[in-house]
Formats: sequence, structure tokens, C-alpha cells
Amino acid sequence: MRVAAFASGSTGNATLITTPDGALLYDAGLPQRAIAAQCASLGVALSSIRGVFVSHEHTDHTTSAVALARRYQIPLIATMGTLRALKIPAGVETIACRAGDTLAFGAFSILPIRVSHDAQEPVGITLRYGERTVSIATDLGEWDQTLLDACRDAELIIIESNHEREHLMQCGYTAALKQRIASRTGHLDNVQAGTFLAHLAADGKKRTAWLAHLSQEANTATVALRSVTSVLKFHQCEAQYRSIVALPRQKTVVWGDAQRSFQLDLWADPQ
Ligand SMILES: [Zn+2]
Ligand SMILES: [Zn+2]
Repeated sequence: MRVAAFASGSTGNATLITTPDGALLYDAGLPQRAIAAQCASLGVALSSIRGVFVSHEHTDHTTSAVALARRYQIPLIATMGTLRALKIPAGVETIACRAGDTLAFGAFSILPIRVSHDAQEPVGITLRYGERTVSIATDLGEWDQTLLDACRDAELIIIESNHEREHLMQCGYTAALKQRIASRTGHLDNVQAGTFLAHLAADGKKRTAWLAHLSQEANTATVALRSVTSVLKFHQCEAQYRSIVALPRQKTVVWGDAQRSFQLDLWADPQ
């Protein structure tokens, strides 16, 4: 199993999980041509994508989801609430999933996980393929025991680390937007992400963590890594993480069978 995050943040999210039995795209919040170009750079044919899983209806996760599904005859997998919000046109195959119910999808086992966010029926995911497991949860205002339990088997955990609370309060956003982001149905801040990772580490298992959906206005990779690491140090579990990577807004980061993350400069020009 190889996991490649093409982009992460409010300007677009798309992660490709590739296996010998086909690929799964998790969110399609980039233009079609950008997804096609990134897939081509990785040597993945779009025809090998078996499904597009959509976490929720916000456009930074869905820009080209319907178009890709229609053009390449790929089923769209999402909760009923998300499918309804997306207003899927006729001719697009859809598979409705439910938080907490594991879905067998080809060689994949997909567990959608309920998250707290201001969308119709948003979810994260734990995806299994053979012995490999990855969990992804972005766009959530708080984390809970359900999420923690669902992520237990993940070797790679992709968790939102949206903002530094102090930076959010000082940035140029309106008071209403700040309140929305910081709310229980908004976005996780760095300390919340770090605390989640510390709780996950309590089982002594080694994992890789990717910090996702970093705010342009109220976070930086350096700040996110520093905050998350200080929380892990406080809980004395920093060593549980093989590596922690703050995902760039638009640069592909790959995790593969060697369980190492590396960054590829696949983007020809900034879009
Ligand atoms: Zn988002
Ligand atoms: Zn969202």
C-alpha cells in the first residue's frame, strides 16, 4: 500500500491510496487535470482508481469528485448526507456508507468514522488493505473516543492540525469565522491534534503521523510541528512516532511499504 497526499488545506485536499489491486482516491478537492497530473507522476493510471471516497461536501474536498466519477465511471463513496448535499447527476454510480459500518470494497475494507464538523454527514476513514491500515481524519472541531478507537490499527495516521489557537485569534479573519473554525464543528488546532496523537500512542505502537489541513492564516508547518511535538513530549510519547510530517498545501507526500514518508516535487507549477 502506498499513500500519497497531493494537497492538504482549505485550497484543496486529495489523497491517493495505491495497491496492487487498484487505487482509492480519498477526497477530490483539486481540479481534474491536477489530479490526473499527480497520478501520472506517480505512474498511476486513472483507470486503476476503483473508487472516490468523499469525506464531506465542502468544495475543498469535492471540486472534481463528481466529474471524475462520471468521466472515468468510478463509483463515488460517501455517506447519504454527503451524497445528497453533492446533488449527484444521473449516470454517476454511488455507494452510500454509514459511520461505524465497515464496507467491503474490492480488496479494501473501509470504516467511515463520524466526525464533528459543520457539514451534512462528515466522516473520516480507516482503510485496510491486507495487513496495512491508514486512518484519515480532517475537518473536525473535536476528537472523541470513537475516532481514537477507530484509528488504533493505523500505521499511518493523517490527522488535522489546522491552526494554532493564538494565531487564529490574532489573524485577520472576522470574529464570526474565527468562532466557526474554533468551534466544536470547526477544525482541530495543533494542541488538540497533539493530544489526540498522545492518546493514540498510549498503546505503545509505532506509527507515522501526518498533520493535515494546515491553515494558511493561522498556522505554519514549523508551528504545527513544534506544538504537536511539545504535547507529545509532555506525555512522554514522542518516540512512538517514526516520523511526523506537516503536509504542505500543495506538494505530494508519499508513505510506502518501507513505512517512511518522503516528499516529491511533482507539482510542475503552483496552481
Ligand atoms: Zn476542508
Ligand atoms: Zn470542511
